[in-house]
Amino acid sequence: MCGIVGIQGSDEVVSNIFDSLLIIQHRGQDAAGIVTCSDRFNIKKGEGLVRDAFQQESFNYLKGNIGIGHVRYPTLGGMGIENAQPFISTAPYGIAFAFNGNIINFESLKEKLEKDSRRIIISTSDAELLLNLLSAELEKQSDFSPDLLFDATKELFKIVKGSYSVVALIKDKGILAFRDPYGIKPLIFGKKENDFCVVSESVVLDTLGYEIERDVLPGEAIFFSTDGKLYTRKISEERHCPCIFEYVYFARPDSIIDGISVYEARLNLGKNLVKEIKKKGIDIDMVVPVPDTSRPVAISLAEELNVKYREGLMKNRYIGRTFIMPHQSKREELIRIKLSPVKEIMKGKKVLLVDDSIVRGTTSKKIVQLIREADAKEVHFASSSPPLKYPCYYGIDMQTKGEFIACKRSVENVRDMIGVDSLTYQTIEGLIEAVSNDKVKKFCTACFTGEYPIKANEDEVQRIETGRGCKG
Ligand code: SF4
Repeated sequence: MCGIVGIQGSDEVVSNIFDSLLIIQHRGQDAAGIVTCSDRFNIKKGEGLVRDAFQQESFNYLKGNIGIGHVRYPTLGGMGIENAQPFISTAPYGIAFAFNGNIINFESLKEKLEKDSRRIIISTSDAELLLNLLSAELEKQSDFSPDLLFDATKELFKIVKGSYSVVALIKDKGILAFRDPYGIKPLIFGKKENDFCVVSESVVLDTLGYEIERDVLPGEAIFFSTDGKLYTRKISEERHCPCIFEYVYFARPDSIIDGISVYEARLNLGKNLVKEIKKKGIDIDMVVPVPDTSRPVAISLAEELNVKYREGLMKNRYIGRTFIMPHQSKREELIRIKLSPVKEIMKGKKVLLVDDSIVRGTTSKKIVQLIREADAKEVHFASSSPPLKYPCYYGIDMQTKGEFIACKRSVENVRDMIGVDSLTYQTIEGLIEAVSNDKVKKFCTACFTGEYPIKANEDEVQRIETGRGCKG
């Protein structure tokens, strides 16, 4: 998971790009980068949070009324400033390129590209490979036009296997954006008079005052030219299958993805979870969310159960998301600093703790310990999503089956391991029903069901599981 943005404006764009990256900081905290274009490319990348990656001088340096930005999600093997995006290519056009996703057939594409062209890939980043594949296609053409650009993009779609949402700044031409045929990663665009913005999440458009036009469709490429014209082409047949985990965990609740409000989806998750809790006949005094993602789930859950909703865990807002911290030991160490129990309200009470998911179980176990130390009478646990059992091939750092506590373990085993009195999971039907709307009813649910919309062969699975390469 990463965040991307591309902006073309009538004025300097750096502060809007910087603000966009701050707004989508939750999509990646490992590195950030901005490329703008004046009479040349101006590039600044840095490790860490957006606020740390750029200094005051960066704003003076990043001149131009067109630019793109990226926040990177950390993955094993993909870290280091050499893998930070955007990437740049100089021929046949100056192109700055930022990407969110994961290329499953990275190795075979890299081998073929290096054999067939004079290009070599120097990082382990999927973004650098995709950029060079696009540039190699554009090199075969004798002229530039939006149509020819879409033709080149179409060639990419034919050979690239995986998930990819992309923004690319083409010097003196405009901004290209495209989304893979399954539309696994989000991408949406909007306009403000003659200004244009394409970005991972709609909350950026709302916050910066852009009028939302629409989501980039699965398999669609759009091009916003420097003279302010928008071109679009549906390159590939729609096989829409967006990542359902965006709604459960990744996306901000104030975003709308493919016409579905993330906040409302989370309220629905709470309603559906109640059905499972009622089946078990669990008696509780209060519902406590693990902040922040599970808050709306816990609110609707408490409403439906007609019990108190209490903020029993206080979050230190200056510590980032632990799930996307690169090392397990770091994640565990941070829990106690990040969350502290409000002992007075939980003492002697039967508490239902609500979290978005249980990945390795170590974080959940630590949180349960915190509630027990607050002298709760009973601690029950409800997960907004079903048991996570299968690795994600599409850019989320859940690469090996061995990482999942629920893999090959019964619900009772998991309950005992995290130390709760009862454990209730969302059903897969409840999850899909909570998120679906009239238009989108099919989602990628592979990490819960093992049904992968885009398959990977053995070598590709090995690359994903060993974490070589840099997802975007
Ligand atoms: S496998 Fe899970 S996390 Fe990965 S894209 Fe599919 S639903 Fe999302």
